[in-house]
This record gives sequence, C-alpha cells and structure tokens, in this order.
Amino acid sequence: MENRANLIRYNIERIRVEMAAAARRAGRAKDEIELLAVTKNIPIEEIRIAVASGIKFIGENKIQEARKKFFLLGPMVSWHMIGHMQTNKARSAAAIFDLVESVDSRRVADALDRAAKGLDRQLDVLIEINVAAEEQKFGVLPGQAEELVRYVSQKEHLRLRGLMAMAPYAPDTELVRPFFRHMRRIFTDLRRRLPEPKPWNILSMGMTHDFRVAIEEGSTLVRIGTGIFSASASQGGVA
Ligand SMILES: *Cc1c(COP(=O)(O)O)cnc(C)c1O
Repeated sequence: MENRANLIRYNIERIRVEMAAAARRAGRAKDEIELLAVTKNIPIEEIRIAVASGIKFIGENKIQEARKKFFLLGPMVSWHMIGHMQTNKARSAAAIFDLVESVDSRRVADALDRAAKGLDRQLDVLIEINVAAEEQKFGVLPGQAEELVRYVSQKEHLRLRGLMAMAPYAPDTELVRPFFRHMRRIFTDLRRRLPEPKPWNILSMGMTHDFRVAIEEGSTLVRIGTGIFSASASQGGVA
C-alpha cells in the first residue's frame, strides 16, 4: 500500500507539471484547467490517497459503483458522472453527482431535470459530443449540438455549464488535435449564440494519452484514469 500511495502521489504531481507545461505552451494560465481523477474500478483506499494528494474532482461511469463510493467518501470532493446515463438511474445520479458530463439526449435531460426538481436542487450538466462521429461512442453529433444545447438550457433545474468529448484513440496524438480544435470552436460558437448568459465555462476533454494536446486546444477539465492509478501508464503514457 505504501508503494501504491507513493506511485499515486507521484503520478498526480507529474501530471500537474505536464498540465502546467501544456498550458504555458498555449499561453494559458495553469489554473484555468482542472484535473479530474477517473476512479472507475479503483478501490476506495486508492481514491482516498488521490484526494489526500489534492484531487478535488472524481469521475465515475456507473451509478451503482459511484453510490457505494459516495457513501464512503462523501461530498468532500466534486462528483462527476462521465458514463452513459440511463434514465431510470436519474434519481440516484441527481442525488450523488455535482455534475453530469454525459447528457446526450432530450430524454436524459428530462429525466435529470425531473429528478433534480424532486430533490429541490440545481444540477450542473454538460452535453456530450461525439466529435468524430464514431459508431461505438455516445454523444450527439456536432451538427446536433446546438439544438440540444437550446433545449437543455431551458430546463429549470439543470445548469448547462458546457461540453464534454472523447477524441478517437490515436498513438500519435497530433492526429486528434483537429478534433479538440473543432470542439473548442463549437464551444465558443455556442457560447455566443446562447439565449442568456449562463455559467458556460467547462470544456471537458483530454484523457491520459491526449491531455496535453487537449489543453493546448482549450480544455478546461482533463479526465485522467490510468495516468494516475497505473504504474505502466505513468512510465509510458505520461512521459
Ligand atoms: C475511462 C475514462 C476516462 C479516463 O481514461 P484514461 O485513459 O484511463 O485516462 C476519461 N473519460 C471517460 C469518459 C472515461 O470513460
């Protein structure tokens, strides 16, 4: 455990240094970008280590697993739902999460709005964009983003904060730069066209292998799993 703890602390430090370097390359301030630890399949003891190392945002992709961990860890961190939402889990999701990053349909938005209303709260959400139109991925296509953005921004109990996307995997991350750039363009374009000023300020993109490029192209939130919790990724992926 001591070794695991050291590894996790080391990984987090290293990623923060790399995040700052990427921000500098793009002429951005490093505190414009938050680090979210993706903790799916990670045991609670290791999540505690990450939190003790300064992690403030936790991402989970299954409601059941998130629920268990939420009861153990509590609201000392900010909980993000990053997996596909099933509408029958909306109530649990609205109870646990501070932000649902994966809204990709009117049905999901309706269910979350209803659940948030039942809990008498406002729920922050992002709209997930399938930026490369990949068949196996969730999210709306870029061309359908504006319609869903307009719809969700009218929901009384949802606060639409921005967009989330996953780039396709490519060993050479330069190949995915155009997708991040496209996301940035959609993000700023929609901000201009939104009916009323809302806190539209989260562009969630970048994972272990491509977070540097994502930051260079405007990400405000990177979601890192293996880079924090796995030894091989810390040697290979985050070099
Ligand atoms: C698993 C996951 C991540 C983290 O991926 P890593 O490559 O392990 O950093 C980020 N975002 C989403 C939506 C995920 O499901």
